[in-house]
Amino acid sequence: MARKFFVGGNFKSNGTITQIKSIIEGLNQASLNPDVEVVISPPAIYLLLAKEIASNGIQVAAQNVYDKGNGAYTGEISAEQLKDAGVNWVIIGHSERRALLGESDKFVASKTKAALAGGLSVILCIGESLQERETGTTLNVVTRQLEAVADEVSDWSNIVIAYEPVWAIGTGKVATTEQAQEVHAAIRKWLKQTVSDKAAEGTRILYGGSVTDKNSKELATQPDVDGFLVGGASLKPAFADIINSAA
Ligand code: PGA
Repeated sequence: MARKFFVGGNFKSNGTITQIKSIIEGLNQASLNPDVEVVISPPAIYLLLAKEIASNGIQVAAQNVYDKGNGAYTGEISAEQLKDAGVNWVIIGHSERRALLGESDKFVASKTKAALAGGLSVILCIGESLQERETGTTLNVVTRQLEAVADEVSDWSNIVIAYEPVWAIGTGKVATTEQAQEVHAAIRKWLKQTVSDKAAEGTRILYGGSVTDKNSKELATQPDVDGFLVGGASLKPAFADIINSAA
């Protein structure tokens, strides 16, 4: 089964109403490869606006979800509420939330479980720090992050994995195609050994970290790179070229 190329745009905490509208209108008008699944992720306050104006097959993702249902959880958004708003995707486990907000592997796993149970699809982010790469523990780190989710979730069919080395995020230091392919292949092997043959064959594994229209084409040639999660460059018109770089 061929895996459909997937490109996510993580706007992070960027944009105003005017800017978000203009980014989405640009994407609506761009000529996008119809064989690529495109999901943009604006800040929560702009999700409904994005849903309303996005066309051209573009879907919308939240950048976070809580692991509980509706209730006394000030400031949080439940999976049920995202579903109600027609938002069918959520990014979970981004390294910025792990580092800045102290989200543990266990919490990330619990949110993934709640999101899937609520009918959402999940872009699950994993990745090692520079120190972890330099000390040769990259595969231990990504495996540990995946194991935590596997402890809570057995059906991976609505999960897309985004491998995002922390040292490559927002730094302009993209992983080499060899570095990306090596980790992606290891993740696929882990899926085969831990989840199932079907999960290994069908799960999209995205690369994230300083992806631009200049490096995306080459990264996309790698057999285990099934798309990208794009931060900074998703705010620019060249995001359309990244979407169209599917091999
Ligand atoms: P970047 O961010 O493309 O700006 O490096 C990627 C991400 O954080 O998802």
